[in-house]
Amino acid sequence: MTKPPLTLYLAAPRGFCAGVDRAIKIVEMAIEKWGAPIYVRHEIVHNKFVVDGLREKGAVFVEELDECPTDRPVIFSAHGVPKSVPAEAAERQMVYVDATCPLVSKVHIEAERHHANGLQMVMIGHAGHPETIGTMGQLPEGEVLLVETVDDVTRLSPRDPESLAFITQTTLSVDDTKDIVAALQARFPAIVGPHKEDICYATTNRQEAVKAIAPEVDALLVIGSPNSSNSRRLVEVARSEGCRYAQLVGNAGEIDWRALNGVTTVGVTAGASAPELLVDEVVQGFRDRFEVTVEQVETARESVEFKVPRVLREDA
Ligand code: SF4
Repeated sequence: MTKPPLTLYLAAPRGFCAGVDRAIKIVEMAIEKWGAPIYVRHEIVHNKFVVDGLREKGAVFVEELDECPTDRPVIFSAHGVPKSVPAEAAERQMVYVDATCPLVSKVHIEAERHHANGLQMVMIGHAGHPETIGTMGQLPEGEVLLVETVDDVTRLSPRDPESLAFITQTTLSVDDTKDIVAALQARFPAIVGPHKEDICYATTNRQEAVKAIAPEVDALLVIGSPNSSNSRRLVEVARSEGCRYAQLVGNAGEIDWRALNGVTTVGVTAGASAPELLVDEVVQGFRDRFEVTVEQVETARESVEFKVPRVLREDA
C-alpha cells in the first residue's frame, strides 16, 4: 500500500537547552563521583524520559529535603530553590550541589539587588511552578508579589507604588509577558525592570521557531512533558499563530494518529527538557505511516554552554 506524502517541518532550535544539559550532567557526574544513590530534590528537569533514565543510573527523586538521608549528596533541580533549602542542607551538614540554571540564578540575583535597594518585587510567573517558588523564596515573605495575568496587575496592592521592580519566570510566553509588562508600566510608571524581560534565550528561540512554522502547517506537535512550562508555552504559541491542531506529546506513543488523518504538513518541535531521541522516534512514527520529506526550519543558532560546579570537576 502506498503511503500518503507528508512534509515534516522540524523546528530549530528545539529540545535541550544549556541549563538542562548542565543539570543532567551534574546528576550523572555526581553518581560517578560519589556512587549511587544520589538524591535529587524535585525532578532535575521536567521530562519523564530523562528522569526515568537517571533513576536507572542511581538517582533518587524526592520532593523535600527531609526525605533525604544526611549521609548522601543531594542535588537541587535546574528550576532553582528557595534560600531556605540550601540553608537547611547546610544546617544538616549535607553535601549538596545546586543545579539551578545560571539564567535562573541571574534572576535571583536581580531580585536580591532590587530588594537591597529598597524595592518591592513583582514576579511575572506561574503560581506553584518550582521556578516561581524558588525565585520568590530568595526574599523574605511578602517582598515578592506574583502576577500571572494582565488582570492580576489591576488587583496588585504594593506597599509603595513608587518603589517597585519586576522580574519574570524564564519560560513564559514572550508575547503574553509583553502585555503584562505593559500593564505594569502603565499602572506603575516608576517600576524598574530588566532591559527586556528575564525570559531566557532558549525559551525565546524555541517560540520563534514555532512561530515560523505554525501558520504553514496542518498540525504541530510539541514533544515534552505536561509539567514542562516551556513546552506548554510552545503549544500555546502554535495555537495563537493560527495552527488549528497543536498538541503536547510525551513521546511517539502518545500521538493521536486518527486526528492526523489527511494532513500533508506537520511541524515538530521539542521543549527545552526533551531529548533529541524522542524527536527521532516521532519522525520514525511518521515514516511508518507516511512518505515523509523532512525540512529543518532554522530561525536561530545556539552555542550557549554552562560549566558544571567546580566540586564535580575536581578529582574525588
Ligand atoms: S529553559 Fe532557559 S532558564 Fe530554563 S534551564 Fe533552559 S536555559 Fe535555563
